[in-house]
Amino acid sequence: MGVLKVTLFHVNPVAPWANQVFATQILKGNAFLRPYGLQFDVYPKVGSLDLDWSAPISSASRSAEGIAQRLALRAAAHARYASFDNRLPVILCQVGGQGGGEAPGSLGLTPGIGWLPWVIMDAFTLMPDGLSMTHEAGHCAGLLHPGDPPNGDRRLLENGAVVTNNIMAYGSYDLNNTYQPRNLIEDWQIEAFRHAYFHSG
Ligand SMILES: [Zn+2]
Repeated sequence: MGVLKVTLFHVNPVAPWANQVFATQILKGNAFLRPYGLQFDVYPKVGSLDLDWSAPISSASRSAEGIAQRLALRAAAHARYASFDNRLPVILCQVGGQGGGEAPGSLGLTPGIGWLPWVIMDAFTLMPDGLSMTHEAGHCAGLLHPGDPPNGDRRLLENGAVVTNNIMAYGSYDLNNTYQPRNLIEDWQIEAFRHAYFHSG
């Protein structure tokens, strides 16, 4: 079984929700990845590391302010726990009331000047399938959304339409407005995870 090593952080204002959010992301991510021989290896084993940071960050991730905030959060995580075994930092915070998940420093997204890609997640706007952390880890492994190059991957299009239930898409809502979770990953995507800097085993 290969492992995807992650270190979990939360900022002070989302502390009351952090355990529940991370428990869901780990449970769902592991259930999704297990058939392919991958699991999250989580540090710390229980809970997450607190960061002394109070304000929501700007949802304009490519603005000068948004980039500065993301880099400051990444530096705060490093100061709190410097990983010497290539763990992927996952920082739970508030992203301007929308947000969802992000992977600063990954291809085509926010510049990660000086850092390997990492994950930022908004505590309150994650997708209903609990796979946001897995999706963002995918970006950090070099995976792209469905779409046209250079920022999209055509292998995730079928007759020009997005394969919505692939892990690197967003799921979809059916005609009854019921969310259809992501449940598909391709062999070459598993291979990307196996070559990620935070993979081991
Ligand atoms: Zn994405």
